[in-house]
Amino acid sequence: MKRVYNFNPGPSALPLEVLKTAQEEMLDYKGVGMSVLEMSHRSKDFEAILAEAKALIKKHLQLPDGFHILFLGGGASMQFAMLPMNFLSQGQSADYIITGSWAQKAASEAKLFGTVNTAASSSEANFSYIPTQDQIKLDPSAQYVHVTTNNTIFGSEWSYLPETGNVPLILDMSSDILSRRVDVSKTSFIYAGAQKNLGPAGVTLVIVKEDFAAKQKQGLPKILSYSTYIKEDSLYNTPPVYPIYITMLTMRWIDSIGGMVEVEKRNNRKKELIYGAIDNSGGYYKGTVRADSRSGMNVTIRMNTEELEAKFIAEAKSAGFIGLKGHRSVGGLRASTYNAVPVEAVEKLVEFMKDFQKKN
Ligand code: PMP
Repeated sequence: MKRVYNFNPGPSALPLEVLKTAQEEMLDYKGVGMSVLEMSHRSKDFEAILAEAKALIKKHLQLPDGFHILFLGGGASMQFAMLPMNFLSQGQSADYIITGSWAQKAASEAKLFGTVNTAASSSEANFSYIPTQDQIKLDPSAQYVHVTTNNTIFGSEWSYLPETGNVPLILDMSSDILSRRVDVSKTSFIYAGAQKNLGPAGVTLVIVKEDFAAKQKQGLPKILSYSTYIKEDSLYNTPPVYPIYITMLTMRWIDSIGGMVEVEKRNNRKKELIYGAIDNSGGYYKGTVRADSRSGMNVTIRMNTEELEAKFIAEAKSAGFIGLKGHRSVGGLRASTYNAVPVEAVEKLVEFMKDFQKKN
């Protein structure tokens, strides 16, 4: 077996331990004589998987009591629409902070339901920075403030959570959830597609504060209403059973390595290594994001010419480094260094970068 150094932006690397456990349990899950893939979502065994996934998410996010933890289908993109469908009406407004393409997509869906104010945007600088608190113009009468904590395509990440007063703070944490400690007690609603730090594609984690949930609109289709999922503990209809199981195993992995202290330590080391390599390359590799706004999860890089970038990506691929092409909308290089990417993979990549520079 040969495993590559996987820098895919999502779906992306999963911890080897998780894959091995899934493999061991594939044909006969804990002596029940079938795979989790074949199991009823209403069985005791699946109920236990769901309960453990929720308990470990609560523990490692340090989520206080008073929040519902839900698992939905439809990807994070469905949350772009479902959030305003449930919490924004004509005649009301919501504040969106536009720090990249995903934030733009979220805001454009919200416009279908009410007024959207751009409270701040870094679009004028090609999304190369995160606005400071005093650059954000919040409306105290907004229904909520929406923030994308990590910008997967542009490679920037919030190093703080904005103060929003009494206005509920909503976080799209798809590409940095559980990569570092964040004071989530300040938020009212979090969503994250699983396919970066949590597990495979197919399930989206949604966390809703009870007092915010109570404000949702009535009369929505059941399947698009958060209250349905809250009432039925994510089991209104058949949930993505297997992705929830892998998410549970990923949470167990976080637990087993020493929780968020260890996760953060590893991610800080990777960040230090790769940005160090960029900054010490004498301009050969150029970061695209202002130093104070750099992402620990998606490292975006430009080189002098597109030809050189293409050569880098091709040679890296031959050497076993996968997923280094920048998003098709922006070009360049991008190394996604999610939780399951080992420090060693980044060390090897940095060696490859130095070697490539010498030869080219
Ligand atoms: N938000 C962010 C920050 C993302 O990175 C992505 C996907 N890369 C999405 C939302 C959309 O997620 P999905 O593909 O699960 O709909």
